[in-house]
Amino acid sequence: MLKFENVSKIYPGNFVALEDINLQIEKGEFLSIVGHSGSGKSTLLKLIYAEEQVTGGHVYFNDRSIDSINRKHLPYYRRNIGTVFQDFKLLPQKTAFENVAYALEVSDETDEEIKELVPEILDIVGMGDKANKYPRQLSGGEQQKICLARALVRKPLIIIADEPTGNLDPVATWEIVQLLLKINSMGTTILLATHNKDIVDKLNRRVIALDQGKIIRDHQKGRYAI
Ligand code: ADP
Ligand code: MG
Repeated sequence: MLKFENVSKIYPGNFVALEDINLQIEKGEFLSIVGHSGSGKSTLLKLIYAEEQVTGGHVYFNDRSIDSINRKHLPYYRRNIGTVFQDFKLLPQKTAFENVAYALEVSDETDEEIKELVPEILDIVGMGDKANKYPRQLSGGEQQKICLARALVRKPLIIIADEPTGNLDPVATWEIVQLLLKINSMGTTILLATHNKDIVDKLNRRVIALDQGKIIRDHQKGRYAI
């Protein structure tokens, strides 16, 4: 589904973020990306989301090089991907329902479809009873669940989660991980960048480790450290 072929990313100022990355990710995988701060995790995810462009090599999505996608078509491409970040980025003046519905605003769903779809997705993340709450009335973990709902509502093929539990306590962290597992079991590919050793070790799924922009490890049923 995703393939990195000899990918490098050098930011202006000659900051090498990724160097000669070769990586293949299949549909339905749950892949954790680990490595020190600055090792290139976020950059790797940004290349997939086409938020940054490669300096060398290619990233392919279903055999199509992402850098060949016309700017005009990027929003369509990005519909394949839902994103979740450490800082929740919910709109403070909108309720949970409205935050999720807002993600559908630019698509062609009717109001009726939105009224059906949003509660369905809020139920999946266990926030069905919080639909009318504003972000400030929700805990960090609950806000992150709303973010997950927002990412899911367009039924993406891939969820990119960049340090999604970075601001959460251990209980909320584990709830988010359970949700990612549930979403994965429903068929969505999950790419999780994390610093959290406990998560990675308990997941017991594929792990790639980055160090200074290079893949130093790629293990099925991997652990955080060797
Ligand atoms: P991680 O997510 O693992 O912490 P990043 O992908 O954010 O790593 O960063 C990898 C490297 O690229 C770091 O050295 C970082 O300073 C550099 N970097 C990231 N974004 C930029 C940018 N926009 N401009 C210049 N350098 C950047
Ligand atoms: Mg990062």
